[in-house]
Amino acid sequence: MDITISAIQLIPLSPAFYVVVPIFVLALGACVGSFLNVVVWRLPRGESLITPPSHCPKCNNLLKWYDNVPVIGWLMLGGKCRFCKQKISARYPIIEAITSLLFLGYYLMFFVAQMGPIVGVDAQGHILTGARPLSIVTDWPIYFLDMVLLSGLLAASLVDAEQYIIPLEIPWFVAVVALIVHAVFDEPSTPGGLVAQPLPAALAVGAGIGVIISFLLWLTGILRGSFAEGAPLMEIERAALEKQREQQQTQPDQEQPKRSKAAREALEREGTQAEREVVVEEKEWTPAQIRAEMRWEMLFLLPALVLGIGAVLLAWKVPSFSRIWDQAASIRWVSALLGSVLGGLVGGFVVWLARILGTVGFGREAMGLGDVHLMVAVGAVLGAGPAIVAFFLAPFFGIVLAIYMMVTGTRREMPLGPYLSLGSATVMLFYGPIAAYLAPGLAGASQMIHGLVGMM
Ligand SMILES: [Zn+2]
Repeated sequence: MDITISAIQLIPLSPAFYVVVPIFVLALGACVGSFLNVVVWRLPRGESLITPPSHCPKCNNLLKWYDNVPVIGWLMLGGKCRFCKQKISARYPIIEAITSLLFLGYYLMFFVAQMGPIVGVDAQGHILTGARPLSIVTDWPIYFLDMVLLSGLLAASLVDAEQYIIPLEIPWFVAVVALIVHAVFDEPSTPGGLVAQPLPAALAVGAGIGVIISFLLWLTGILRGSFAEGAPLMEIERAALEKQREQQQTQPDQEQPKRSKAAREALEREGTQAEREVVVEEKEWTPAQIRAEMRWEMLFLLPALVLGIGAVLLAWKVPSFSRIWDQAASIRWVSALLGSVLGGLVGGFVVWLARILGTVGFGREAMGLGDVHLMVAVGAVLGAGPAIVAFFLAPFFGIVLAIYMMVTGTRREMPLGPYLSLGSATVMLFYGPIAAYLAPGLAGASQMIHGLVGMM
């Protein structure tokens, strides 16, 4: 281990390396941004991400490859289609530029400012940064993974802000990449690594099996989902729908966005809440009915809770089992994979618990299940602790945006996804100082719990 580290440090890197890499990162970000434009447009419309190739939505002519060059292509065309000369929205090059600058910004924060992934925090609140500074040469896997998450959060936020849904393909793609990257690259000393101790690893296995059982029961129809006859509109969806209806009444001949037949059918099957509700008349829900629906979601979570606690007790209190388990959990890739699984489970659970409590408390649906999936991705990439911190940071960004809207006089209701994303993007950079600040209090609480458990 020490040998590989010193060997890497001995590689002489020419100054050109430090110029070429940031330029590469900028270009990579621009290309990813270009792909995100496709994702944000096509996923919620049920269209394929691969075919057809980029075309003008107005005249359907295929774009030349050089028109597709991020930002520059749009500038060279003067923001107009090469064929029909209609305007191409400035939002495409803007998203490409933002993604590009995010990639560079996080690169500079991680590897120049040394602000980013950490190894951990001790009980006194000292940040454990590892044996050497963060370097793109050794820590590129965690940078790559964090940029996958950041891109996923950006795409999910853009769709959520417009359509009030999060296409589940986005968080699940990110989560699968996270499981692979952590299993392959994590060592106990890797900054941003998620190698789990035996007891948390047991929790991940038990709760993970519980979720799979619930999911299979739900798939086979034995376990009923909540709102089986269509969920009630959330407040923001209702507002958006009413606005949409108003517009349709005032401008009846307004042109609807053109969609292929397949895309229209897909939309009817799994379109956004607001769009589907135009077709299907809204079912009225009383607060009591909405509260009662939460029983089904609690039932869904029950196997995960029971099996999770059961697995921890087994690995902790039953000596014959804990010997075997300690050995299994000391295999590096197993403990890293389970650390990532645990992060995903905890991230999703925190939002789901808040959703159930909020819905029961207010008698109307609080947070969407899409937010649960989003935080599964965040937890699988960043780990359980950062996912929890990101969740509690999210409301602060809500306040910031509310102040901005008050000052500028704009009114636009926002779903939760963008706030969760801002919280997560912040935690990606500043988890070290935040965890260091929280550590002494958490250590005290954990000592108290140990004391209580010891007394039993
Ligand atoms: Zn055109």
